[in-house]
Amino acid sequence: MARELLLVGGGHSHVEVLRRFALAPEPDVRLTLISRDRFTPYSGMLPGYLAGHYAFDDVHIDLVPLAEAAGARFLRDSVDGLDLAAQRVIPHDHSPLTYDRLSLNIGASPQLTSVPGAAEHATPLKPIDGLNARWLALLERLQQRPVRKTIMMVGGGAGGVEVLLAMQQRLQHLCRERGVPDGLLRFCLVTRGPRPLATHNARVQRHFSRLLTRRGVALHSDAEVVSVDADQLHTADGRTLAYNELLWATQAGAAAWLADTGLALDGAGFIRVDDHLASISHPHVFAAGDIASMVNYRREKAGVHAVRQGPALADNLRASLHDRPLARYRPQRRHLALISTGDRYAVASRGPWSWSGDWVWRWKDRIDRRFMARYRPPLTAP
Ligand SMILES: Cc1cc2nc3c(=O)[nH]c(=O)nc-3n(C[C@H](O)[C@H](O)[C@H](O)COP(=O)(O)OP(=O)(O)OC[C@H]3O[C@@H](n4cnc5c(N)ncnc54)[C@H](O)[C@@H]3O)c2cc1C
Repeated sequence: MARELLLVGGGHSHVEVLRRFALAPEPDVRLTLISRDRFTPYSGMLPGYLAGHYAFDDVHIDLVPLAEAAGARFLRDSVDGLDLAAQRVIPHDHSPLTYDRLSLNIGASPQLTSVPGAAEHATPLKPIDGLNARWLALLERLQQRPVRKTIMMVGGGAGGVEVLLAMQQRLQHLCRERGVPDGLLRFCLVTRGPRPLATHNARVQRHFSRLLTRRGVALHSDAEVVSVDADQLHTADGRTLAYNELLWATQAGAAAWLADTGLALDGAGFIRVDDHLASISHPHVFAAGDIASMVNYRREKAGVHAVRQGPALADNLRASLHDRPLARYRPQRRHLALISTGDRYAVASRGPWSWSGDWVWRWKDRIDRRFMARYRPPLTAP
């Protein structure tokens, strides 16, 4: 009897699992991928897409040919429940599916529900198709009739800063092309702490503070947003900030439905996994990427971890399906972050180090393009 391996979510780890199963198939394993979206955006290139440096296809992994290469069945659906006792997954639009081994790589999304009004009025950076639809509509509107607009980003992490700078670059270019004064557009960044990029070193923080000033981005720091109305938001210290477009890039949270599954979760609702990326409560369930919380290591939620977990996850899923011993995965303590500024320029940040320049952007571009090429059939080893 073939064993059932069910992959939920087409995130950065599962694309590597699919690639590895395509390169070395398991004859006795039936592989199924269920993912809400057909196209997985590669987060490292997303700001470059918004800035107009890349086309849609450059920055998205198409799960259909990848699943096909791996001999996997692909169901485009959202999972919103698990029946762990019966080893079943409950998708939204399909009948429940049973598994022998289950792996979850469903990512995380900015939490909007904790701030009244944010869910109604703000656009989260994830899911990215929602952001993209809103972005294309905004581009279209501005192309037809340029009007005065304030574009506000809540969240001063790398994702928020990169996306705001990328949007600014693209929109100002659009204004110049049409002979419209680019002063019509205002850009604001709202951060809870004193400076943006709080998890990076002081040099990187200073670099971006200066850059934001030079680019005319209004920085509202120490601003804890407590409520959002249709065209303004309010902060804990009494500030009211007006906006036309509101983007939300705060701390990522876990899918709420996980709380009802019986899986062991951490305080923020992420799945607690051991060094094998297996759930500490249900060893036949694995998790990787943002949704996983490694009990022995505290790490920032970042795509690099999801990518690096991919090979280990693939090996351990294979081993587990054959009841063989699993290998330990140890995440790196520090990782290199390459933060782009929208104008083919980037800042590299690792621990206390930083470098910047257009060469950093070209370096990032090469790494990113090489990464994307790995997931376009025909696939090649390793
Ligand atoms: C603008 C931006 C820029 C970023 N830049 C960087 C960067 O340069 N470097 C870096 O390390 N990190 C970066 N990040 C963070 C990075 O995006 C995440 O850490 C990374 O995407 C996590 O990968 P993942 O594989 O866990 O999940 P994701 O890439 O989010 O993939 C989740 C997948 O699961 C699917 N899914 C979700 N819910 C369900 C469900 N219920 N049922 C079925 N399928 C589901 C989705 O459709 C998707 O296919 C950035 C984030 C943003 C928003």
